[in-house]
Amino acid sequence: MNDLSGLKQLLLVVLIFVPFERLLAARPQKILRRGLLTDMAFLFLNGWLVVGGVIAIMTAAVLVNQSILPAAVTQTIGDLPYLVQVPIVILIADLGVYWTHRILHVVPAMWEIHSVHHAVEELDWLAAVHQHPLDVIFMKAGALFPLYALGFSAEAIATYLLIYFWQTWLVHANVRLNYGPLRHILVSPEFHHWHHSSETEARDKNFAGLFSFYDVLFGSAHLPKGQNPKTFGVDHPMPSSYLALLAYPIVAWTSKRKRNDPPAAQPHMPSGGEPAQPRQSAPLS
Ligand SMILES: [Zn+2]
Ligand SMILES: [Zn+2]
Repeated sequence: MNDLSGLKQLLLVVLIFVPFERLLAARPQKILRRGLLTDMAFLFLNGWLVVGGVIAIMTAAVLVNQSILPAAVTQTIGDLPYLVQVPIVILIADLGVYWTHRILHVVPAMWEIHSVHHAVEELDWLAAVHQHPLDVIFMKAGALFPLYALGFSAEAIATYLLIYFWQTWLVHANVRLNYGPLRHILVSPEFHHWHHSSETEARDKNFAGLFSFYDVLFGSAHLPKGQNPKTFGVDHPMPSSYLALLAYPIVAWTSKRKRNDPPAAQPHMPSGGEPAQPRQSAPLS
């Protein structure tokens, strides 16, 4: 959110999602919830930190497009009609999101970056931005690198980005929406809420951004019928301020704590100097 059009978009998001969450709340939750100020910092400051990474991804992809892939392939793709390109772009980008997200979960060093996103305990639309800048860069690389490398049109890629922009707010929103019979095809708020669940059976599940069928296909779907996640967050203490969360991966990489260590075994010290308080998730009923 670095410019006026970004601020207008944000205003629109607020005007849509704040009443939407009041109307269809999945859990009772205040608008002025815990961690709101930290999320505002993510919202307004992350963009400045990721811009260099995104430019690097696009530059590398354009180089691959122009010097590695055969021109006949990239030209044929670029010449496809817009309405043919858009569904292909969305399918490829979400496959990239799926595997990048899965790698961020299973590679321990990557998890320390991505765990910042999973630290959120009161899930709502604004939790979408609670993401370490490196996490944002990796996810954008997974989605955008193949698109720019293969030579899809800027219009088709922009359409995907617009859909993904609204999808990220929607799937984090505190709304009760499960999409019924489409729940195993499209990612619903219910599907992504399970991804954020701190319950053991939901751990490392539901990686897709738009198409839940990727999780069904690759055996990582978790969507128990008639149930909803009770608690969110990670099972070890996390810092709560923006700067401490930015520093968190470095602190974690240099500590000996492992993801599966019991919570009390190695208490984490945030960069601010004060011991982090274990974030106990209250049952949300
Ligand atoms: Zn995740
Ligand atoms: Zn999320």
